[in-house]
Amino acid sequence: MDPVFKLIEEEKERQRKGLELIPSENYVSKEVLSAMGSVLTNKYSEGYPSFKGLEKSEKEISEEILPNYRYYGGQRNVDRIERLAISRAMRLFHADHANVQPHSGANANEAVYFAWCEPGDKILAMNLAHGGHLTHGSPVTRSAKIYNFIAYGVTKEGDIDYEQLEKLALEEKPKIILVGYSAFMKIPDFDRVAKIGEKVGALLMADMAHVAGLIAGGVHPNPLDYGFHVMTTTTHKTLRGPRGGLILSKGNVASPLRKPEKTLENIPILIDRAVFPGTQGGPLEHVIAAKAVAFGEALKPEFREYAEKIVENAKALAEGLLKHGFILQGGGTENHLVLVDVKQSFQVDGKLYERALDLVGLTLNANALPNDKGAAFKPSGVRLGTPAITTRGMGVVEMKKIADWMFEIVKMCQGVESEKDLDKTKVEKIRKEVEETALEFPLPTD
Ligand SMILES: *Cc1c(COP(=O)(O)O)cnc(C)c1O
Repeated sequence: MDPVFKLIEEEKERQRKGLELIPSENYVSKEVLSAMGSVLTNKYSEGYPSFKGLEKSEKEISEEILPNYRYYGGQRNVDRIERLAISRAMRLFHADHANVQPHSGANANEAVYFAWCEPGDKILAMNLAHGGHLTHGSPVTRSAKIYNFIAYGVTKEGDIDYEQLEKLALEEKPKIILVGYSAFMKIPDFDRVAKIGEKVGALLMADMAHVAGLIAGGVHPNPLDYGFHVMTTTTHKTLRGPRGGLILSKGNVASPLRKPEKTLENIPILIDRAVFPGTQGGPLEHVIAAKAVAFGEALKPEFREYAEKIVENAKALAEGLLKHGFILQGGGTENHLVLVDVKQSFQVDGKLYERALDLVGLTLNANALPNDKGAAFKPSGVRLGTPAITTRGMGVVEMKKIADWMFEIVKMCQGVESEKDLDKTKVEKIRKEVEETALEFPLPTD
């Protein structure tokens, strides 16, 4: 047998026996997995299906065959699948249009920049070190070489520095104001940012990669309800779909074949052209089918309960950690994510703590804190979240257990140089406890 399949089996075991605390990961359903592993991967479908009649019933959309904007033949099934994905995404996020083709969150962001900006144009986004994302202007990215990124940050209390954001917007007149983060635990004031954006005529863009599932589940505000023009997201984090990207927008929808005037109203068409042929080739229709299935799941009432539970669990986890003396960025959480200052709390390095937790099957990532002296190479904190363990059905009781294990481990790490120096018997004891708890909660694909 090809060793690849043996390694997939080993990965399944790792996922079963450990607790996934990385806030950007999740476990998909059997149905999502099955759509992703389908023969749709054999099909080339460059271009788009028709955008007409997407408000119709699912039955009609799944039956109707319409003229399309594709480059190859044989699209009758793929078109209907992609139309179902688009229609469900629009309903889920109150959008006028959805582009379901971005291969990832990074591609989605690049396409929006490409749709709206010329080289050298200014984009105002959160500093990476304060919780932003690499694709929001980190100098190592292609976007940062093309566009001129200006960064705002967070306050001492861990909230967006809205005053700084407004001042920079008025001074710099950016083409895009970008809200949305990877290590941020508060709910952004979209209304306030939208008012700032209107003053300077900027495109209002929200990158909701982390919290899209919370928005879909109604426990986080939707930026498109507050005057934002564009929302990008990944589909594999809280949204619990396949690995991929998605762009939602407000405005006119029309044929992507004709180049439209560059106005805010035409943003949906500009985005379609920026995704294909602007930045990508053929879409991954097997992944688009899995996105459609995931959006269908997210439209169900059960998903609302799931989203509520994610936040409830995150708050319980934060509370458990606070009780043990951990210092949390922002003092706690309003979403699915907690950022712990391990250095300040226990004089333990973030990377050492990450590796020590990995030994017992608690998977999370070391993360820099705002104004971290250790920066990206020696971060002072760790970032963790509840989307994946909530999918497994865990609740407040398990959150307390996790906080207790984390406290035991952090004490063991004090004064230690490497995770290799930890007491092996104690590590093994905790690893067994973690595994026992994990095995009580099967994965959706088990
Ligand atoms: C995860 C993330 C992305 C990137 O998604 P990829 O699919 O990994 O490219 C973009 N923006 C934010 C805010 C994210 O958290």
